[in-house]
Amino acid sequence: MPGRVLIVDDIAPNIKLLEAKLSAEYYDVIAATSGMEALKIAQEQLPDIILLDVMMPEMDGFETCKRLKAHPATQHIPVIMVTALSDTRDKVRGLEAGADEFISKPIRDLPLFARVRALVRLKTLMDAWRVREETSADLGLFEKAYIPEETLKGADIAFLTEEKILFRHLQDALEKDQHTVHAFDTLESFRHALQKNHYDIAVSTLYIGGKDVLMPCSQIRLKEKNRNIPILLVAEESDEPLLLKALEIGINDYIMRPIDSFELLARVRTQIRRLRYQQSLKENLEKSISLALTDELTKLYNRRYFNAHLDGLLQQSEEQHKSVVVLVIDIDKFKNINDTYGHDEGDKVLVDVAECLTKSIRDCDLVARLGGEEFVVVMPDARTGVGLQVAERLRNAMESRPFTLLSGQQIPVTVSIGLACSKEIKGIDRVTLLKAADEALYKAKRSGRNRVVVGNIMRKQVAAI
Ligand code: GH3
Ligand code: MG
Ligand code: MG
Repeated sequence: MPGRVLIVDDIAPNIKLLEAKLSAEYYDVIAATSGMEALKIAQEQLPDIILLDVMMPEMDGFETCKRLKAHPATQHIPVIMVTALSDTRDKVRGLEAGADEFISKPIRDLPLFARVRALVRLKTLMDAWRVREETSADLGLFEKAYIPEETLKGADIAFLTEEKILFRHLQDALEKDQHTVHAFDTLESFRHALQKNHYDIAVSTLYIGGKDVLMPCSQIRLKEKNRNIPILLVAEESDEPLLLKALEIGINDYIMRPIDSFELLARVRTQIRRLRYQQSLKENLEKSISLALTDELTKLYNRRYFNAHLDGLLQQSEEQHKSVVVLVIDIDKFKNINDTYGHDEGDKVLVDVAECLTKSIRDCDLVARLGGEEFVVVMPDARTGVGLQVAERLRNAMESRPFTLLSGQQIPVTVSIGLACSKEIKGIDRVTLLKAADEALYKAKRSGRNRVVVGNIMRKQVAAI
């Protein structure tokens, strides 16, 4: 799944060289020769990844990276800094500017391809989540994911190592960001802890007990709970071939010895930022699903969910020769409550009515808010007689309890209920059933409110057939 790569370098032969390498791997390559141009092209063409030279006149790579990461259109595009310097200060500056990775010149093919592939793969995944999030945000369901910097601190880190000195060194470094480091010196204890407890990130030395940890690390991810946990390896320069394999199987990052504390902190921060972002995309998505199906005020299911539920129930009842009862419940003179006490007090009454309904029904029954001050209860495997008892109980429960307003004042609230049972007509559909209940409700209102009426329209329909 190669993608589109933007190469940014002020020296043309450098671009040519990289372009040749990446084109041979089927990447679609575009180029820019300055930071300014890079910003413009990135916004217009939205590449999947950007290879950014650090040393450029006017705007250098750090500044360009900062601006890319600050712009909503380009902030999710991974950036690999290409540097002639192997000075860790530059690495840290780059990571702090938001760079996702580093490659030093002269560029070797394998590390380049491994990094590019890993980052493009991650971006593809995140893009898929983001599209859904944007849809929900467009619908005004919530604000888009935003990760405040302070949430990048205070993480729980599981660290697997047999080296006590290394552990202490890492612990000292990581405590600067208030992380808590939990140490494990065997694979078994590490694995066990990851299964049992929650950690934000896992760090391991490449070798434990004389064997590399690639297999065990990929197995950690098999558990749903740890599917997205970032894994960072500590290794030597000479381990590079194995580290490239590690990236292939989804290890997120590695850091070379001797470990520079600032680099470690910056890499951990990058991983946590990604994790938090991923978590918040996921939460937003779950929230948008629940918002789409529930009513925000009362937390009851909404009409859309109710419709789907009743359709399924009617079909199942038909197959099992059972019947369904629907109660449509409407608050009496609710407009008066709004007019007398205000809209907020009206809302409070709606919430209390919803709660009263939920408490008064069986587990298998479902309550939904159809809209306004109208609710519905659907009872599977029930006949008119039972439905009538339940409806009468609900009506009585409302009438006999006082409703307490936000002001503390107590007022009486009553409801009228229309009942319809699917037994009357074979193969009855949702719309007909609800219409019958609605007409019964209308009769209840006309005949004085605070009462239950059983729909008889279906008998009429049956008679007509
Ligand atoms: P009836 O006994 O005939 O049902 O009279 P009613 O006043 O209850 O019925 P009507 O349909 O005339 O008025 C319903 C009112 O409910 C009007 C509307 O402003 C109010 N309403 C609808 N949704 C909400 C809501 O979410 N919150 C509040 N506070 N009021 C709502
Ligand atoms: Mg009403
Ligand atoms: Mg009404």
